[in-house]
Amino acid sequence: MSFPKTLRSDFPIFEKKCWNNELCYLDNAATTHKPNAVIEAVSEFYRFQNASVHRGIYSQAESATAQFEAVRTIVSSFIGSDSNEIVFTSGATEGINFVADAWGFHNIKAGDHIVVSEAEHHANLLPWLRLAERKNAKIIFIPINKDTDQLDFDESIITCRTKLVAVTHCSNVLGNVWKHGDLDLLVKKARAVGAKILLDGAQSVAHQKIDVKTLDIDFFVFSAHKIMGPTGLGFLFIKSNVQDDVQPYQVGGVMVHSALPGSLKWRTGPQKFEAGTQPVAQVIGFGAAINYINEKINFCKLSSHENSLCEKIISFLKSVPGVKVLGPKSDSKHIVSFAVAVVHAHDLADFLGECGVAVRAGHHCAQLLHNCLGVEATVRASVFCYNTAQDIDCFINAFNKARSIFGL
Ligand code: PLP
Repeated sequence: MSFPKTLRSDFPIFEKKCWNNELCYLDNAATTHKPNAVIEAVSEFYRFQNASVHRGIYSQAESATAQFEAVRTIVSSFIGSDSNEIVFTSGATEGINFVADAWGFHNIKAGDHIVVSEAEHHANLLPWLRLAERKNAKIIFIPINKDTDQLDFDESIITCRTKLVAVTHCSNVLGNVWKHGDLDLLVKKARAVGAKILLDGAQSVAHQKIDVKTLDIDFFVFSAHKIMGPTGLGFLFIKSNVQDDVQPYQVGGVMVHSALPGSLKWRTGPQKFEAGTQPVAQVIGFGAAINYINEKINFCKLSSHENSLCEKIISFLKSVPGVKVLGPKSDSKHIVSFAVAVVHAHDLADFLGECGVAVRAGHHCAQLLHNCLGVEATVRASVFCYNTAQDIDCFINAFNKARSIFGL
């Protein structure tokens, strides 16, 4: 299948003109657009069904519950888990805070080590910094190498004090930051000392095949909106043999067998972790997103499509004096971040936006990473299946206009 010609027309957002041009959307690492199948599934749910799940015993409610649970199975096969290992959350951020509170708070003690990398998004940094402060535990950083823009993992950082490794699968600024084999080695070392492993899949899940069993991890998080699904929904994989060590994150409706004072008894499996009314429409919409992906996306072809678009951006940027392209030289890129010497990232992104080109600027919630790389802010272009070579031409044309305005 050739990307993106066969796909783009499935995404109604591209029917909209932006400054009389087609929308040139290069901010996919922030959020992705939704195909008709997703929009229709959400709309159909509200139009014809709209019932709470795991409660009502009338037909709409029972059918909503069946559809809702079917999505749990769809998601579990998508990432290679069992369906009772999938917990619905509001996003990757909530998934990580969930693990920090519901597992970390009860299992991390004074003097324990939590290993993270310097390339983490704040969502996978702040919960651990706060937990370490509360518990008097220590954060150990896997450093980023300024020359290669890759993580320098040294196996000696994993010791018998390591209780948790919580790292990014793919950086939201640099893309894949792991040297070949390092992530596997990290997992192996962590396993050997009995540490738990959390992988932040927010930036990887839409771009590569995930198999949590092969990755051999305990927790995996991602957000639906970064992979064609609705906002307000995320997923937390909790390996089944770890679930007994995880407390409910929130308590409330449905997650309890007995709520009588003195004899509280939580339900088991995912229901133990899902208190309150569920985001049913979002879940059903996400089921449609995964069905769409399973039908239309081949991850190998997607990766080579995205990589060729990124290479085109990089080769252009490298020809512009004063532009520093960040990121390792991987052949599976979907993100290009760069710093420009004479103009602030926000001013450049603002100008590109006026030309109809949507990119992100700033530290992208990865302030520590920018600090370590010695840059205050970057501009980030990120691509997905529906981007075309014309999008990149549009970016280059807009950038060339910026050169004359800003004297680049
Ligand atoms: N982790 C990474 C690497 C991200 O890029 C993001 C969002 O950009 C998150 C976590 C948090 O995702 P969300 O804001 O959808 O919860």
